[in-house]
Amino acid sequence: LEARATYAAARPKSAELHEAARRVMPGGNTRTVLFWSPFPISMVRGEGARLWDADGHAYTDLLGEYTAGLFGHSERRILDAARAAMDTGINLAGAGANEIRFAELVCARFPSIERVRFTNSGTEANIMALSAARAFTGRAEIMVAKGGYHGGVMTFATGQSPVNLPVPTRFLAYNDVEGTVAAIREAGDKLAAVLVEPMLGSGGCIPATREFLAALRDACTETGAVLIFDEVMTSRHSEGGLQQRHGVIPDMTTLGKYIAGGMNVGAFGGRAAIMDVFDAHRPGALPHAGTFNNNVWSMAAGCVALGELFRGEVVEALFQRGEKLRAELNALCAEAGVAMQFTGAGSMMTAHFRTGAIKAPYAATPEEEQRRELFFLDMLEAGFYLARRGMVALSLPLAPTDLSGFTAAFREFLNLRGPVL
Ligand code: PLP
Repeated sequence: LEARATYAAARPKSAELHEAARRVMPGGNTRTVLFWSPFPISMVRGEGARLWDADGHAYTDLLGEYTAGLFGHSERRILDAARAAMDTGINLAGAGANEIRFAELVCARFPSIERVRFTNSGTEANIMALSAARAFTGRAEIMVAKGGYHGGVMTFATGQSPVNLPVPTRFLAYNDVEGTVAAIREAGDKLAAVLVEPMLGSGGCIPATREFLAALRDACTETGAVLIFDEVMTSRHSEGGLQQRHGVIPDMTTLGKYIAGGMNVGAFGGRAAIMDVFDAHRPGALPHAGTFNNNVWSMAAGCVALGELFRGEVVEALFQRGEKLRAELNALCAEAGVAMQFTGAGSMMTAHFRTGAIKAPYAATPEEEQRRELFFLDMLEAGFYLARRGMVALSLPLAPTDLSGFTAAFREFLNLRGPVL
C-alpha cells in the first residue's frame, strides 16, 4: 500500500489523464494489458531504450512493447524506411514490391513457411491460420493450451473460458506429453489444428520442453491435424524462430510484434499445400482481406527489420544476453533465499514468486500477486519499466550498463524486501 501511495503521489499528470480517459473509454484504456491500479502511467516519449512519462520521469525500457519494440523507439533505418514509403503515398490499394520482398524474407527465414500472408496483428494471423487449417482439413475443431495466449479474442488464461472464440475448442495441458498425445488421438479426425506457443509468453514465459513439441509434431502427423506454432513473440529466439532452435518444424507458423520494426503487422504462413487454400487463381479459394494488410509503412519497415537489422549474430547475441541476465537474476534470488525466480528463454523472461520448477501456467495466489506488484512498483521507482505482470523483453538498444543497472536495482530490491518475499 505504501509503495502504491508513493507511485500515485509522484504521478499526478498520469492520474489526471487516466480520469479523462475513463470518461470516454471503459477502464480508461484500449489495451487491457496496459491497465493497473490505481492508474497506469501515461508515456509521452521514447528514444532508443528510454521512455519518459507525463510527469517527467525517465525509465529504462525493459518491457520493449511486449516484444514488438525489439529495435527500440527511434531506430533510424526503420523510421527512414517507413517515412520514405509514406512519401510515396499513404496506402495505394495495390500490390507492392516491398510486400513481395518482405514475404521473401519471411519465407527464407522460417523453415516451416513456404508461403506467407500478412495481417494487421498477431491476433488476425492466428485466426487466419486456424481458418486455413479448418479449410485444408475439412475439420471443425481446434486445440489450444490452457493458459495460452493468441490475441485479444483468443485468451485462454487459467480459468478463462473461450467464449470469445466461436470455434469448437479443446484444451491441452502445457508440457504434459502423455495427456496431450492422448487428447490429440482422442480428437482424431475431428481435429483441424493444434495451436501452441513454443514458449508461453503472456502465460508467464514458460518454455515448452523439446520433448513436448516433438510429441505434438508426431501426434499431429499421426492424426492429420495441422500443427501451428504461434511464434508472434518467440520468433526472435533465432533467425528461424524457436522452432529452429528446437529443431521441431510445425505445418504453419504465425508471426507479429517486431517483424515490421515495431509497426503494426502480423503474418501467417506454412506449407504451400495448406496456404494454397487462399490461392485466388483457384475456384472456391478462401478469401482473406484486410485494408491494412499490406500497408506501405509496415511492408517497408519489415524489409529493413528482417533483411538488414535483425540477422545472424545480432539474433544470437540478443538471445545470449537474455540467458545471461536471467541466470544472474536467478542467482541473486537463490543467494537471498527468497521464493522468487525468473523463467523464460533468451531475451524474454517473467518473474514468478514461488520456488520449484514451473512447467505450466498456474493461478497466482493473492500473496504472489502482492509481491508481483511490489516488484513492479519498486523497479519503477528505480527507473526500470517492465510489464506489470513481471515480464521483461530486452530490446537491441539496451546498453550493457542498463542491464548491470537493473541487476543492481534488483539486488537492492531483494535486500529491502527480502523479508516479505
Ligand atoms: N500471439 C501471441 C503469442 C502474443 O503474445 C500476442 C500478443 O501479445 C498475440 C498473438 C496477438 O498479437 P497482436 O497483439 O498483434 O494481435
